[in-house]
Amino acid sequence: MKQDGPRFGTLAVHAGQEPDPLAGAVMVPIYQTSTYVQPALGQPQGYEYARLQNPTREALEENIAALEGGRFGLAFSSGLAAIEAVIKRLSTGDHLICEENVYGGTQRMLNHVLARWGLQSSFVDSRDLDRLRDALRPNTRLMLLETPTNPMMRICDIEGAAQIAHDAGVILIVDNTFATPYNQRPLELGADVVVHSTTKYLNGHSDIIGGMVVTNDQRVFDDLSFIRKSTGAVPGPMDCWLCLRGTKTLHLRMRQHNESGLKVARFLEQHPNVERVYYPGLASHPQHELACHQMRGFTGMISVDTGSFERARALAEATQVFALAESLGGVESLISHPAMMTHASVPAERRLAMGITDGLVRLSVGVEDVEDLIEDLDQALRSV
Ligand SMILES: *Cc1c(COP(=O)(O)O)cnc(C)c1O
Repeated sequence: MKQDGPRFGTLAVHAGQEPDPLAGAVMVPIYQTSTYVQPALGQPQGYEYARLQNPTREALEENIAALEGGRFGLAFSSGLAAIEAVIKRLSTGDHLICEENVYGGTQRMLNHVLARWGLQSSFVDSRDLDRLRDALRPNTRLMLLETPTNPMMRICDIEGAAQIAHDAGVILIVDNTFATPYNQRPLELGADVVVHSTTKYLNGHSDIIGGMVVTNDQRVFDDLSFIRKSTGAVPGPMDCWLCLRGTKTLHLRMRQHNESGLKVARFLEQHPNVERVYYPGLASHPQHELACHQMRGFTGMISVDTGSFERARALAEATQVFALAESLGGVESLISHPAMMTHASVPAERRLAMGITDGLVRLSVGVEDVEDLIEDLDQALRSV
């Protein structure tokens, strides 16, 4: 990672956090207001209406932009709203290329909402850069990747993809929700835009829904500001403030998620009741070297193939510390069943082709004591 100016943990705590000018409050206040007074007609003081501007939201945007090493941040009401806003720069008849194993909701939006507006999408396995290149069409405007992917933990070579996109005049977007900027900084690897579901690791406490876009590109920023103002998917100030509280400890939490994730993955890999573990930090992951090249840690996200639906169900229902729930990236450990939960909207053949079997279980390893997490998984696997 580039290093000029304050380091990551210092930015996490301080970036965008000027003391409040009224009272000197050290913490950014929650500006719970919809509008701002104008001293004279036609002379607003920079703040007019809260869909356009909100100081709490701006503090969060500056904070996360700094963590991604970007100039501009734009907060949205959810991760999907952030992704949709970026795609809304396109027009009817345009084409985009999307990694085939992206978040299920992203696929649902492309196939069932935006396709009706005449947007063309190709889903490809971006582990193979030739496939990305082959998917280019004269009307391709955008490439949307996610790495590691959800839930198969595939890795896409961001530098390689950026080269292909830029040679064709296409914008590269990376959904960095899984990795977080602590572990991976797509803008430094050549991506044009980073998107996040801040609902996950950035907020980290499973108590808000939120999204963020970060870019260095002034035109993209201007377009997205206009789109957000015109379509309205803004987060409320309380949620921005909660997320800001979360990002202050991102570096501490990610160190623990990375360390515990690796320990749990190693434990599972040698367990007799487990068929296969998908975790980029394991030497057995087919893209381990690439993961080491572009990431500095591998998070708490692990997928496990237990071999059958009965085993997956027994595991998901027998854990005591891991709670059975959607979502990920919080301080608490969660377990989920992608085929029936996050990826239920993906057709069964497509799911199976990607490895999302009925025996697959996904873990989000939290920051509890890792010994308790391992004992919990062990007792659940023995009950299988
Ligand atoms: C959850 C998630 C999203 C969607 O975000 P929401 O905040 O739920 O709208 C997008 N991408 C990834 C990788 C996610 O995990």
